Parts: sequence; structure tokens; C-alpha cells
Amino acid sequence: MVIMINQVILTKKLRIISTLLTSIRSGKNLCHESYEMRAIFINAAKDLRVSDCEEERMMPSQVRVKISHGGICGSDLHYFNHGKVGFSKLREPMILGHEVSGFVSDVGEDVGGLAIGDLVAINPAKTCGQCHFCKENRSNQCSSMQFFGSALLFPHIQGAFREEVVVDANQCFKFRASNPGVAALVEPLSVVLHAIRKSGNVNGRRVLISGAGPIGLITAALCIFYGAESVSIMDIETYPLSLAQKLGVQNTFDMRNNSSELENYAAGEGNFDLFFECSGAEQALISGMNVLNPGSKIIQLGIAAEFCLPVIQLTAKEYELIGSWRFSGEFSQAVNLLEAGEIDLTPLISHEIPFWDAEKAFLTASNRKEAMKVQLCF
Ligand SMILES: [Zn+2]
Ligand SMILES: [Zn+2]
Repeated sequence: MVIMINQVILTKKLRIISTLLTSIRSGKNLCHESYEMRAIFINAAKDLRVSDCEEERMMPSQVRVKISHGGICGSDLHYFNHGKVGFSKLREPMILGHEVSGFVSDVGEDVGGLAIGDLVAINPAKTCGQCHFCKENRSNQCSSMQFFGSALLFPHIQGAFREEVVVDANQCFKFRASNPGVAALVEPLSVVLHAIRKSGNVNGRRVLISGAGPIGLITAALCIFYGAESVSIMDIETYPLSLAQKLGVQNTFDMRNNSSELENYAAGEGNFDLFFECSGAEQALISGMNVLNPGSKIIQLGIAAEFCLPVIQLTAKEYELIGSWRFSGEFSQAVNLLEAGEIDLTPLISHEIPFWDAEKAFLTASNRKEAMKVQLCF
């Protein structure tokens, strides 16, 4: 027994020495290095901690990835600020994070096509591939979905804001461009590509978007990319609207200070024919419904638990209200678009903050007056 304990201590000491040597070689700040693997846990609303987490065992079909970048998503912020998102409520400590990229550090013996050192974008959705949703290419509805950093199930599915994660090889997509920050944008881009697919076609449409956060702005960028006739966006903050203008959005509506500007678009039968609701705010959906042409499609991307709606408008104007949830096959499409440089989303990355300063990163990301996509660096 004594010998065993000594071995454990010895192993830990060796790890400390090896971490220190790696740190010295990579020039990292030693003050924040420790030998355990650290992760960002949310315990309850406003209770965020960087703590040690257990090293995971790797199966032959899996790879170990040293996380490089992690984007803070609206859902991570909901857990941080309110302890819940939609109907998913925190019931135990959970590691946050699902928008991550990293470098492969170990490869299981059954894995092909990936090698140590590869930069990968990690698909946070682990699906079964067997249920009828998976077989119909609707894996976002997989009946045994395990999505990183989600409190929908209990025990919660732990997320990827940690120094190292073990994942199935088929969740790793080699990213051939060299920018790990861009690779961490694959997930939110996939969410938007899915919404665009649900909309049918954006080409030639007059598009309205509510919520100029990362998802709203990626939607704007993609609608411009895919040939929308015009793209307009509404928000209640000026900073995100100014970013939207830089991305080439034609009309920006400041709904806090000048909501009548959008209301003017209700003239005639309405002036927009496709509406992406990306804010999760009831009032945004209602404001948008007032300025749409009869027969318009409304894609609900913003996450909220309950809305009270003027349903008569859906009926009388024959709107189609369509939900859009995560993504399925769009992940590889997003990898291709970003690694080929066909679409540039880097203007959306407003901050890069070291993960050990998680509290600061989450507070920064919560401030919509000056932050867009905040990425954690590991
Ligand atoms: Zn996300
Ligand atoms: Zn399935």
C-alpha cells in the first residue's frame, strides 16, 4: 500500500516536472500552470470555477485532443447568468463549452485519417447513427444525442472547456487552415447553415434578422454570401449593429432608441419575406411579424422557454413558423467553407481571453455593449 501511494506521488511529481519543462519550452506563464487537467465548471448561476477534472480514458475508436480555442456561446452565457437555458436546468456541476478546436495529442489504435498534431474542429454532438432520425440525416434530433455542455439530460453531458478532451474520432474534423480560432467558429456556422437550409432559399429574398449577436451576424454574413436581395437586422444595442454594418448589412434598426424606423416597413403588405429570429426575445419576434409579407417564413433560432404571440397573424398572413435546432450534416459543410476562406467570420471574434480567467471572459461576453464572440484560449 505504501509503495502504491509513493508511486502515485512519484507519478504526479513527474507530471509536474514534465509540465514545467513544456511550459518553459513554450514560454507559457508558469504562475497559472499546475499539473492537473483543468476545466471550466458551472455550479449554479454566477458560480463559475476553474477546477481540476479527471483525465478521461481513451477507447480504441477515440482520440485525445488538446483544446486550443473555445467560443463562449449564448447557451453557455444562459447557464452562467441564469443557471438554465430553455428547459435545461443545472442540477449538478457541469463543464461548459461546445464550440471548440484543438490539436490531436493521442490517437486510438482503430482510428484512421487522424494523426498527432492535426488541428481539428470538434463536433460537439455525439449521435447514435442508428435511430431513424440519424438514418434520415436528421441527427440533430437523435434519440440518444449527447451534446457537450448540456444540462438537458441527467447526469449532464460534460462540455469541452477543458485543457484536454477525449472524443470519438468521427467527431473530429481535420481543419486544413492553420487558424484554431477560426476552427472554433465551425459550430456556430453549422447552426446557421442548418437554419438557412430550413428556410428553403435565401437567394433573392429580403431578409430580416432579429438579434445581432454572433448567430444573428453569421446569419447576415451567410445571407449576403448566398445572394439575398437585402439583409436588415434589428437589435437594442448599438455596438452589434455597428459590426453588422461592417459586414455589409444594408439596414440596421436600433429598437431601443428608434423602433419606428422598422415599423415604417409595415406599410402595404409588409416589406420582408424571410425572418430569422436570433434573439430569443418575444418582442423581437412580434416586431418582425408586423413587417413581413403574407406567406413569409419565420425561422426561430433564438432560444427561449415561452412566448406569447399574436397567433392571428400566423393564420391570416399564412406565415410559416419554423424551428431550427443545432445542425446535422452541416458541420462538414461549415469546415469546408471556413478552411477554404470562402467566408470570413474573424471580424466577429472580439476578445481572446485565457481560460483560467474564465470569470472575466464570461462577464465580458455578457456585455453586449462591447463584446461579440469571446474565445477562450487554452
Ligand atoms: Zn453554440
Ligand atoms: Zn440517433
